[in-house]
Amino acid sequence: MPELPELRVHAERLARSHSGSVLERFTPLSFTALKTFQPDPAAAVGTALTAVRTRGKYLIAEFGDLAFIVHLMQGGRLTPETGRARKPRGGLARWEFDGVASWLLTEAGHERRAGVWVVAGETEGNEPLDGLGPDADSVDEAALSAILAAAGGARLHGVLRDQRRIAGIGRRLANEICWAAELSPFAPSARLESEQRSALLAAIQRCIGASIEDEATRDTMVRSAERLAAVHHRSGEACLRCGDVLRQVSYNAYEVDYCAACQTGGKVLADNTTSKFLR
Ligand SMILES: [Zn+2]
Repeated sequence: MPELPELRVHAERLARSHSGSVLERFTPLSFTALKTFQPDPAAAVGTALTAVRTRGKYLIAEFGDLAFIVHLMQGGRLTPETGRARKPRGGLARWEFDGVASWLLTEAGHERRAGVWVVAGETEGNEPLDGLGPDADSVDEAALSAILAAAGGARLHGVLRDQRRIAGIGRRLANEICWAAELSPFAPSARLESEQRSALLAAIQRCIGASIEDEATRDTMVRSAERLAAVHHRSGEACLRCGDVLRQVSYNAYEVDYCAACQTGGKVLADNTTSKFLR
């Protein structure tokens, strides 16, 4: 799933290529695409694209007072298209601009979970952005400390991925951040010490910054297999820092990759389906 860095750079791409373009038509191509009934997306027709930005894992295209908020989920993509096939493969929605330009929202597979919300006026605090924590690259030491304290005994990896606590981090970044900070993905969040919280904040900023830089070198959104990864999906390979073998543990149906030597004092984490006594 694209995370904050990929989305941030992609928003800049779309803004660069289409800012000022006037919307001629918005067409849902799938009955699951449009998640809102009001306002009518047609209200944006005749208005120029004023901004494309992100919030958490959402892309937000603003046409004056009206915003299209797009969630790509796992396999969604929002890309400029040249031709306009009547029934594009995986097509969910299309924005047609003056002239020939258009954007196409597609989703690979058959899950049809990606979607578009249309919001008039303030987007913050309204569906689907209501309840989101602050963007991960905007938190400072005090904010991060408050987030960790509020999370209590919840495990660090889960807290980093919880969009209601901190927004924009998915599985890859959570793995990378824990590794960069040399922290156990299973550490109880509220028990991190001051030095560990500082290391965590630095790791969040460093991992997001590096991914933004990497994404910015590409013409289109990078495929997940090509995203920067020191540990993510690298279990069995050697740790870049210490050379020990990277490991994977299943936790609540998702995979966590880590280095025991760097992150858990050498302790091998057990799947939570088989053991209750681990940290
Ligand atoms: Zn290591």
